[in-house]
Amino acid sequence: MKSLIDVSDAAPFAGVEAAALLAALPDPTVVVWASGRFALNAAARERLESVSQGEADAAHNWAALFVPGTAQQLRDALARAFEGAGSRLSIQMVDTVAPALATITPSGPGAALLHLREAHDPLEVALELMDSLGLGMTVQGADSAVQHANAAASTILGLSPEQLTGRDVLDPCWRTIHPDGRPFPSETHPSVQALRSGQPLLEVPMGVYHPGEQDWRWLLVSAIPRRAPGSRTPEQVTTVFVDVTAQRRIEDEMRRSEQRFRSLVEATAQIVFTTDAQGVFNGPQPGWEAFTGQGPDDYLDGGGGGQALHPDDRERSVGGWLEAVQTLRPYQSEHRLRRADGQYVPMQVRAVPVLNGDGSVREWIGTQTDISAVREAEEALRALNAELEGRVTARTQELAEVTRFSTLLLTAAGEGVFGLDAAGRSTFANPAAARMLGYSVERLIGSQQHDLIHHSHADGTPYPKEECPIHQTLRDGQTRRIDHDVLWHAQGHAVDVSSVVTPMFSVSGEVSGAVLMVQDITERLRAQTRLEEAIEELERSNTDLEQFAYVASHDLQEPLRTLGSYAELLERRYGGQLDERADRYLSFMQDAVGRMRSLIQDLLDFSRVGRGETLPVPVALDDVMRLAAQNVQAARAAGDGQLTWETPHRVLGHAPLLAPLLTNLVSNGLKFTLPGQPARVYVASRQEGPWIHVTVQDSGIGIAPEYQERIFDIFQRLHRREDYAGNGMGLAICRKIVEHHGGRLWLESAPGQGSTFHLTLPAVSPSPAPSPTMTPLQP
Ligand code: ADP
Repeated sequence: MKSLIDVSDAAPFAGVEAAALLAALPDPTVVVWASGRFALNAAARERLESVSQGEADAAHNWAALFVPGTAQQLRDALARAFEGAGSRLSIQMVDTVAPALATITPSGPGAALLHLREAHDPLEVALELMDSLGLGMTVQGADSAVQHANAAASTILGLSPEQLTGRDVLDPCWRTIHPDGRPFPSETHPSVQALRSGQPLLEVPMGVYHPGEQDWRWLLVSAIPRRAPGSRTPEQVTTVFVDVTAQRRIEDEMRRSEQRFRSLVEATAQIVFTTDAQGVFNGPQPGWEAFTGQGPDDYLDGGGGGQALHPDDRERSVGGWLEAVQTLRPYQSEHRLRRADGQYVPMQVRAVPVLNGDGSVREWIGTQTDISAVREAEEALRALNAELEGRVTARTQELAEVTRFSTLLLTAAGEGVFGLDAAGRSTFANPAAARMLGYSVERLIGSQQHDLIHHSHADGTPYPKEECPIHQTLRDGQTRRIDHDVLWHAQGHAVDVSSVVTPMFSVSGEVSGAVLMVQDITERLRAQTRLEEAIEELERSNTDLEQFAYVASHDLQEPLRTLGSYAELLERRYGGQLDERADRYLSFMQDAVGRMRSLIQDLLDFSRVGRGETLPVPVALDDVMRLAAQNVQAARAAGDGQLTWETPHRVLGHAPLLAPLLTNLVSNGLKFTLPGQPARVYVASRQEGPWIHVTVQDSGIGIAPEYQERIFDIFQRLHRREDYAGNGMGLAICRKIVEHHGGRLWLESAPGQGSTFHLTLPAVSPSPAPSPTMTPLQP
């Protein structure tokens, strides 16, 4: 192998280091000795290695560089050179198509130098070079028509070399666009511009339609104009283009995924950050900057951004972070981070280490998430919970109150309250019930209510459950009221009660029981009995009294009559015969007898009211008034009084009582007048529902309020007999008559203002018969 590559033992010649000379030659050069040894310079060695492709045998033979015919020619030429004759010949190497020029030069006895020079067209070299780099290359003339194109150009543009050659850039079959999709007019193509301006254009991005793939290819196009020496305008342009379609696809994909990532980052209101393996921000952090308002100077150099943390959270958060960085455990924490507006926002931080292939940390990548909404929601939830709890507590308290109140109510209630189940068993009894019946509450609860306290009627006969109204309610769900019933006391006696039994219903609507409320009416019954007895007693004594008054007045009449007769006799027989005083005494006596008679008559009338019962009949008030007017005619005439009436109604009454009633009232109105003033009495009637309301109005002296009730009592008078005659029985009789008709008698009056007496009597019919109005009394 040494012989192949080492030329150090080649003999120096002409004072020059052969090895250095050989090595410096750019063309493949071989030194061949007659012995068969040879030495190669670097270019030749490289060439031989490349053609022999590692085959050892071939590598031992320099002739492997050439096609067999050429190798033979060269051996012949070398043999001549060993004898001192140099030569030059065109040869064919195995790895190139183009013929090469071999120069064989004798170099000392038994040695010759074989120098190879390949024919190099710079254009061809360039085209090939571009091919080998995968770059397309075309050479266009001044008219922009393609003169040369390499194989890569064909591939990239999707046109065969024949299709390419001669085609000019303005050919409409070139479809080109800018990267943003705008059309790329052919007159602006880099090659055309370079031709026009004489200036090179480098790496112009361009999309070219590939007809075979029916898709766009993306190129970076550079155009270099070439001027002929001395010419001002370019005569050619070399266009080199690289296909960056795949790259662009990757870039697109990356851009898209970055956009996705970015929108994800923006949409989630998260800060994404990266740090180096030591946990220090490793470059600009746009998310962090946008959120905190810090600039790179703040967080890259000073404090690593810790200044933006809430002072109370700083130590804990930073400590946790350093620990995570040391232990390589994923970091998770929460802290408050100052936003650009100065507000601290609760953030959740998570970060994970990104590892290299060897397990070491390349960087940390993490997120900070604004969790204020979560916090707020939690807060709202907590508040809601608290409020609910508060409400539940309040409601529970309310319920407890109500329960307590109901219990109190039931306990305090005077009524006995039982709860019964559907079978009639007591499930509840209040203290009043227990007290009423002499049992303990415990004894009552659980017992069959009917059997224990309701087994018999008041007279002691059995009370079958089927007839019991309480059990009927348990059967039919109807509320029942029992006005009078008996329950049986523990000591064996009956307790009078009134009760109400109310059904209770289950959710499904069936009778599930009943509530029985019981009132002890023993006292009430007793009081009622007492009242009835008292009324009876009163009625009896009233009758007795009336009887007495009647009898008394009747019986008094007899001696009075005798007294009167004898006084009259005395007067008739001895009048004027005795002295004057005796005459006066006699006259007093006769007066007294007369008054006594009138008193007795009034008393009799009073006691007669309501006796000798006749049935009430319809009576026209007008008729009654006519009678009354006649009765008072004398009084009216004497006092120059006026009586008018307007009484069209009929009443249901006793005619013999109604005439004295109105006569009395009218006569009082005519009697109690102011001195020197004539009396005016007006009687009217009006219907008020079932009643006829009669008013007797006068213009007399009036009555002070304090006397307005007293005057209805018997023998009650407000004036001396000398001023106004009378014996105080009239109004007492009137009231008795009115009350006997079921009506009322009262008055309205004021001293000096006249009086109005009101009375009500039962009406006959709602529509009164028409009657003459204002019937004046004819004197
Ligand atoms: P007498 O027989 O005195 O009229 P009454 O019972 O009719 O008895 O009346 C009782 C008293 O009521 C009268 O004495 C009189 O003082 C008063 N009185 C009754 N009617 C009137 C009236 N129309 N105006 C003023 N006072 C009256």
